[in-house]
Amino acid sequence: MLHDALLYDELENKVVQCNLCSHRCRIKDGARGICRVRENRNGKLFTLVYGNLIAEHVDPIEKKPLYHFLPGTKSYSIATPGCNFRCEWCQNWQISQMPRIMEMPQSKRIKPEDIVKAAQMSSCESIAYTYTEPTIFFEYSLDTAKLAKETGLKNVYVTNGFMTTEMLEMIEPYLDGANVDIKAFRDETYHRLMGGRLEPVLESCRKIKSLGIWLEITTLIVPGVNDDPEELKALAQFIHDDLGPETPWHLSRFYPQYKMMDRGPTEESILKETKAMGEMLGLHYIYLGNVLAGNTTICKECGQILIRRDGYATRLSGLDGEGRCLNCGTALDGIF
Ligand code: SF4
Repeated sequence: MLHDALLYDELENKVVQCNLCSHRCRIKDGARGICRVRENRNGKLFTLVYGNLIAEHVDPIEKKPLYHFLPGTKSYSIATPGCNFRCEWCQNWQISQMPRIMEMPQSKRIKPEDIVKAAQMSSCESIAYTYTEPTIFFEYSLDTAKLAKETGLKNVYVTNGFMTTEMLEMIEPYLDGANVDIKAFRDETYHRLMGGRLEPVLESCRKIKSLGIWLEITTLIVPGVNDDPEELKALAQFIHDDLGPETPWHLSRFYPQYKMMDRGPTEESILKETKAMGEMLGLHYIYLGNVLAGNTTICKECGQILIRRDGYATRLSGLDGEGRCLNCGTALDGIF
C-alpha cells in the first residue's frame, strides 16, 4: 500500500530527489531509491512501508542500548522492512535487506494509534524505532511519535545516523533519545562495507546533540574492519570533543553474521583496552556489549556506583528518584 512521502523535491521530467537520507537519491518515474522502499509514481514520491510492521516486541530499554534513558523501563520496539545501508555483518539482515532480496509481505498493516495502544497496554514508557533503519520508515515513525507524545510516552531512534538534518529537524519535537551507530571512523570503510559515508553520520550526531535529544553512541568492533587502536582513539576523541564527555559509548562485541563469517568474535581484551583508552581521554561512561560481564554506571564526581546491571536486569541502587547520586547529589547525565 502506498503512502505519500515527505521531504522530497520534484525535478524536471517527473524525476524526484528524496531528501530523507544523505544518499539524496534522484529517482526516475517508476523507479525506487537505494533503500528500495520509496518509489516514484508519475513524479510523486511514495513510501511502501507505512504501517508495514515486520517486527514488534517489548524490550528492556537497555537492549537498544540506551543506559541513561529511563533505566529499567520497557520500550515498545517496532520496525518495517528495509535499510539505506547494506552492512556485511548486519544481525537483522533478513528484515533490513528484505526489499533488496524479495517482494515485501504486505499482510500486516498496523496504524500508529494501534502501536501507541499496544505500548500502553504493555506498560512501556517509550516507543523505540529500531531493528532496521527508522529513517526509511520516517513517515510512519513521525505519525506514531506524535501520537505517543500526546499520551506521555517517549520516543527513541536506534539508527545508523545517515539521515539529513532536514529530517532531524522535523522529528525533533517528538524525539527524546537516540542511539547512533558509528560503525567505523574511516570513510573508506563506510563506502566499501556499508554503502554509506562517514561525515553525514558525524554531522547527524552533532545535530542530535544540538537539538537537545539525548544521545548515546554504539560501535560494534569488528576484527580487521575497525579495530585499529588509532582509529578507535580518533573516534573516542570525536565523541569527547564534538559530542561531550557525558555521551555514553557502547563498545559491542562482534559475532560472525550474514556475509561476514570469515572471522571469529572480537577478543574481549580489545574491548577492555578500548574502554581504558576512552576513559583516559575523559569519556565518563563506556560500556561493553555482547559480553557476559555486567556494566555499572559510576558517579563521575565521587565514584559511587549508581546503576548495576546484570544482563538486562537493572538496579538503580545509588540514585534518588530524580537521577541524583545518593552520595554527593550530582545529577547523572541522561533522562530519568
Ligand atoms: S531514504 Fe535515502 S536511500 Fe531511500 S530513497 Fe530516500 S535518499 Fe534514497
